[in-house]
Amino acid sequence: MKKDIDLIINYLREVWNEYDSPLKANMHLRGNDPFQVLISTVLSLRTKDEITYPTAKKLFEICKTPEDFLNISLEELEKIIYPVGFYKTKARNIKKIAEIIIKEYGGKVPDNVDELIKLPNVGRKVANLVLSVSYGKDTICVDTHVHRISNRLGLVKTKTPEETEFRLMEIIPKKYWKDLNYLMVGFGQVICKPVKPKCEVCKLKEICEFYNSKNFIIRRIL
Ligand code: SF4
Repeated sequence: MKKDIDLIINYLREVWNEYDSPLKANMHLRGNDPFQVLISTVLSLRTKDEITYPTAKKLFEICKTPEDFLNISLEELEKIIYPVGFYKTKARNIKKIAEIIIKEYGGKVPDNVDELIKLPNVGRKVANLVLSVSYGKDTICVDTHVHRISNRLGLVKTKTPEETEFRLMEIIPKKYWKDLNYLMVGFGQVICKPVKPKCEVCKLKEICEFYNSKNFIIRRIL
């Protein structure tokens, strides 16, 4: 399996370098400021990438720091993030997050998963992205792309992103953990899409369980 993982990661890197995925085009917006990574990942929950990126861009032009988010009115915040799913709940939670970070953590986003997941709207996915992108920690952020692709390839057989995270930690060498999220998100946006993956151009066909499953073979023939 180790050989396959090296092969998979190398191919994911090749796709990242060769294709202009929406994530790659918007990477610069995310930056690595822990508070902004935290807020943009909260915005991304249950929201399409194409909607999250411009909304986060617009938001960070107006609010940058926890203090800015504390000072903006709830109505104004709702209006700015309106395109994202569950915008009313997220606006309320984002203001709460800003308040907790100022009052309990002296304005600094915590750098460990146990404290991060105490914040409203913050689960392991959000926490792990903050830890890897902003604090350079070895974590695997499992979002819908990582969960789907890991299962399609047959790296894991799991029902939830959390199960996927723990299983991937057992089989993926630590040196790849930090990069796995952006590599799989980019791959999932341009090739291994949720609906109609472009298997015909994918170089992982031979080792992909989904591609070689009986049902998919029959569908390809018909
Ligand atoms: S062969 Fe198809 S399903 Fe498998 S990893 Fe490639 S694009 Fe995804």
